[in-house]
Amino acid sequence: MPHAPDFAVTSQKVVTPEGERAAAVLIKGEKILDVVSQHNIPEGCPVEDVGNDVVMPGLVDVHVHINEPGRTEWEGFETATKAAASGGITTLVDMPLNCIPVTTTLDALNSKIASTKNKLFVDCGFYGGLIPGNLNDIEPLAKAGVLGFKTFMSHSGIDEFPKITEENIRKALPILAQHGISLLVHAELENCIEKTENLQTYKSYLATRPKSWENEAIKLLIQLCREFQTPIHIVHLSSSDVLTEFAQAREEGLPLSIETCPHYLHFTAENIADGDTRFKCTPPIREAKNREKLWQGLQSGTIDFITSDHSPCTPELKKMDEGRFEKAWGGISSLQLTLPVIWTECINKGLSLNQLTNWMCSAPAKFIGMDHQKGQISLGYDADLVCWDPDSTFLVEPAIINFKNKLTPYEGEELFGVVKRTYLRGNKVFESGHFVNDPIGKTILRNHAT
Ligand SMILES: [Zn+2]
Repeated sequence: MPHAPDFAVTSQKVVTPEGERAAAVLIKGEKILDVVSQHNIPEGCPVEDVGNDVVMPGLVDVHVHINEPGRTEWEGFETATKAAASGGITTLVDMPLNCIPVTTTLDALNSKIASTKNKLFVDCGFYGGLIPGNLNDIEPLAKAGVLGFKTFMSHSGIDEFPKITEENIRKALPILAQHGISLLVHAELENCIEKTENLQTYKSYLATRPKSWENEAIKLLIQLCREFQTPIHIVHLSSSDVLTEFAQAREEGLPLSIETCPHYLHFTAENIADGDTRFKCTPPIREAKNREKLWQGLQSGTIDFITSDHSPCTPELKKMDEGRFEKAWGGISSLQLTLPVIWTECINKGLSLNQLTNWMCSAPAKFIGMDHQKGQISLGYDADLVCWDPDSTFLVEPAIINFKNKLTPYEGEELFGVVKRTYLRGNKVFESGHFVNDPIGKTILRNHAT
């Protein structure tokens, strides 16, 4: 029987593109052989029945800062990919900063790929970086297989990754178009300088990065996209002001896309305690009213998907003892928690597993050109699966966190959605709190067969 499955994963709640249903996912080697009713499992096929737990495609998180090589004390490939596997994520994409060197040259990409050896517990792709002066590096990085280019319109947080100007973007877009590759933009324009000293209250920090920074940057990017017709992606949207204009631009057929993150969808500025720098990120977390509009943007399809923007650092850099926002590192650690955070919100809002699967699996897979292989439970796709209990809760505490530095603003929260098992390309990699396989994750390089 050459086509006999190796085993089947069955559940009452398998999330397929056609909806949630009782089904058996038949797995052969690394692939999904078929999705059938539980009565049609071939005789003799071993069955792993997860009962009422959800079986969903492994999550695809296309915005993660892993920081290796160079700032491995902040995060590394082993800890980040273990955290991912334990959170049901089977594919992630690493940002070109804050590693040393930053991924703005082919040599830097090669040193990063070399540093992943024997450390990947999930599959991992990479972005290149676009900074002033590296236009000649776009082609070699694109040919080597980066999945997009990331750039900043405001200070990135580290000096070795300088911000870009409109003129730089204008020069880069035609080159990116030649390679059919997206530009990912941190969209904030520093259009005014507010008081930036002694920021102890959250309100004072929020005032230093107003919505207008994002709004103006995104309006400029829409205009540039219209002019050059090159795919532009807005990372980590916080301001909801531009959603209507953004939706209109897409109706024109412009190749624009946009993501937001769990911290903007879960926390609100009103509830952040003064001095609590764990919540510092850029752009900042805004008010409850803004958060509701981001949820509406997701539901209407204007916002394409959700990423973690896991951006960790050592605890010292958060300056919790001083509680001064202007001195603290801006970035939130959340890898491993994104599924339960978003699911908890979905329960409150009456949103479905299929919507969540679109935002966290299929849409991000499409963004990185992997929608023929990742992010969906369908025949021929990679057998990347997460099995999780949607009805149980758990407490976020340092002991259960697998990313390197345990400081996170989610600590102390009780969240719905307990990940029980994760399969990567047909191999069980995580079960009941334990890693049960070698680091079998692969690197994902664009236009290269894996
Ligand atoms: Zn980021």
